Amino acid sequence: GNNNKVILVSNRGSYIFREENSGRKREKAVSGLVSALEPVVQNFGGTWLAWGGRVAEGSKVKGEMIGVPANEPLYWFQEILLTEKEIEKYYLGFSNSCLWPLCHCFLEKVVVRKDYWDSYRNVNQKYAQVIGGFMRSGDLIWVHDFHLALVPEMVRRAHGKANIAFFWHVPFPPPEIFSTLPWAADILRGLLGADCIAFHSADYRNNFLRCVEKILHLPVNWELGMVKGDNRNITVSFAPIGIDWNKFREMASRAEILAQASEIRGRVEADFIFLGVDRLDYTKGILERLLAFETFLEKFPQYRGRVALLQVAVPSRSGVKAYENLKHRVEEAVGRINGRYSINWRGPVLYRYGALSSSELVAHYLAADIALVTPLRDGLNLVAKEFIAAKTDRRGVLVLSAYAGAAQQLREALLVNPYYPEEMADVFRQAVEMPVSEQVYRMELLRKVVQQQDVYWWSHQVLKTLPSKWGKLAATS
Ligand code: UDP
Repeated sequence: GNNNKVILVSNRGSYIFREENSGRKREKAVSGLVSALEPVVQNFGGTWLAWGGRVAEGSKVKGEMIGVPANEPLYWFQEILLTEKEIEKYYLGFSNSCLWPLCHCFLEKVVVRKDYWDSYRNVNQKYAQVIGGFMRSGDLIWVHDFHLALVPEMVRRAHGKANIAFFWHVPFPPPEIFSTLPWAADILRGLLGADCIAFHSADYRNNFLRCVEKILHLPVNWELGMVKGDNRNITVSFAPIGIDWNKFREMASRAEILAQASEIRGRVEADFIFLGVDRLDYTKGILERLLAFETFLEKFPQYRGRVALLQVAVPSRSGVKAYENLKHRVEEAVGRINGRYSINWRGPVLYRYGALSSSELVAHYLAADIALVTPLRDGLNLVAKEFIAAKTDRRGVLVLSAYAGAAQQLREALLVNPYYPEEMADVFRQAVEMPVSEQVYRMELLRKVVQQQDVYWWSHQVLKTLPSKWGKLAATS
């Protein structure tokens, strides 16, 4: 038997807490990382350490510990608290204004500030201390994403024998880009405190290994995907994250969700419905997609009045400067396109600023003919996989950016260059005109991949490279 526990560690967890006059409210957090980790932590019956969105009073670090669900917990959520300053400097500052644009290769958006870095290091230390208080020998510590890159080394220093896995959820840039960060070496060394580090794709993994060679001057065994540390080897692998396939397939066949889907179709009144679902983020290419849709209407007048684009924009990081103008620019483009192409007071773009629940989302996936997943760069993109899983009738077309990590896996999608509106417009036409037989052919192949490489497969792939009993456990279960 294995009595040790799994401790998942990330910036955001499944819930965001809010204080209101009527008491504490909690809502689901919206992100790919959260969607993916919840089924995994449930499966392990583990503990999830993450920030719940609340501000610490004084120097308190730990907030509430709740069982999810409360009456019969499948896992535990330990809330971490951040101070006002830490939210500003570690979260909005170093994580979202420096590492995020750097990893997505938006160098001109990168803000480099020493006070941001200092706060980042302190918060990583804070997490490491909370982990130290929770763990017992034999436990597995699984740390996630770029917010917490220093945690593995910090935990390793305090607990030499700890089992530590790390998954990096965003792209990893090549050394030419990563080395512009003054603390590039610190980040790499922080990560190498883990026993295994994994990325979504071979490209990201190779970029990381090249950074290790060029910036840290450490030897890399490329054949085995291994970095030689002083007294340990670190495995560096890749496995694209997946979705909870059964959950989506089940939702896609629920009567009330199917009814909601036909209601949406009825209300939209278009022959072809395009759908975009993204956090409002400059990496998602929403503006470029709108331009391409406008070009499509310009180039192919036969489709005016017959197509609609439903664009959901989920509010995100509104405290960061690079995000402020984006909302205005997206809304201006929506207004312009509708002003230009509306017929009988109906515009071709339907826009919503706000999040949908997962069942509403599945209803929209079902209602749509064509999903537009066209980020300028994206670690993976789960929306693409969810759309495929929802399409139980095998109809529908996925238009996918070549710069989403998912494009490495979803080869039967229509791959596009999101920077080239004329080409995208042509692909939109190809999608609209695709014969049903071809839709079904492509969708079947896509569905096989998404079903086989689901989120449980992903977690096994990552953990089986661990040297300890955790690796054997993952390999055999
Ligand atoms: N999502 C949601 N409601 C929305 C929009 C998105 O619940 O209105 C979820 C969606 O199901 C997906 C996640 O948010 O699981 C977005 O993940 P993705 O990998 O596409 O992008 P990220 O936001 O992590 O960059």
